[in-house]
Amino acid sequence: MKKVLQIVGLLIVFVIVAGGIYVWQSYQRFMKVETIQYDPQLTIYLGGGNSVVLTSEDGSAALVVDTKMRGAAEILKEKIKVKEITIVNTHDHFDHVGGNSLYPQAKIIAGQYTKKQWDDDVSKASRYPDITLKPGEEKVLKIGSEIVHIYNMGRAHTWNDVVVYFENRKLLATGDLVFNNMHPAVIAKSGTKVALWIGALEALSKKYQIKTLVPGHGAVADQNALGVMKGYFVSVGDSIGNKEKQAILKEKYKNYITFPGMFSFNNTLKFIEQERKGTK
Ligand SMILES: [Zn+2]
Repeated sequence: MKKVLQIVGLLIVFVIVAGGIYVWQSYQRFMKVETIQYDPQLTIYLGGGNSVVLTSEDGSAALVVDTKMRGAAEILKEKIKVKEITIVNTHDHFDHVGGNSLYPQAKIIAGQYTKKQWDDDVSKASRYPDITLKPGEEKVLKIGSEIVHIYNMGRAHTWNDVVVYFENRKLLATGDLVFNNMHPAVIAKSGTKVALWIGALEALSKKYQIKTLVPGHGAVADQNALGVMKGYFVSVGDSIGNKEKQAILKEKYKNYITFPGMFSFNNTLKFIEQERKGTK
């Protein structure tokens, strides 16, 4: 009996350690910063919540889309040497706004969250935006020769989701409206509404001509990523109550990055089910 208990104890320790290692490795992968010099003025920093930095040709001003979190936020801050900085937060999740306080002089633009919504999603220490855009509102900025459109798509992944379109480059930063090759984060307390999210993806395909698409997470893509994301939600929704369809989809999306309990096929399925029942 004692021996059996010892074995069970060892097994439990093993599962806890293996689980811990798995979570740690996933976190490291999530936070790893990769730099893509898109052109002399524009740099994309993937990892820990993707970021885009555009610097004016004279080096006097920069626009930063999303400030990452923790170590990744510090790596990004180190790269930006410009004094006059405007930050756009695509939405209020910590991996996109976690570095806001590293830029005390910067002006921050984001969607119109109530203070409570903001504080519920991120730590109170994270700076609330200076300028908020209402759903459907657009702000146009000139950074050097580029014309930058900052547009609030309204409720989708969170209560407000803002996209940033670089007109000359035909480059769109979508924030978490697009997860590339990864199951999306669907979070009721952040205001996620999949039915509206699908609508936002459709609207984006019509609104902008997109050559390059920078998603909130995952590799740089193009216009097709909008259709892929929409297809994911529609097909998962269609599979509700149909185990066969679900098995086919699980196979189709088997290479998507998963984080059990947070980003997974079952998580998305359960969320859409509850949304349709009206409990979300
Ligand atoms: Zn998010």
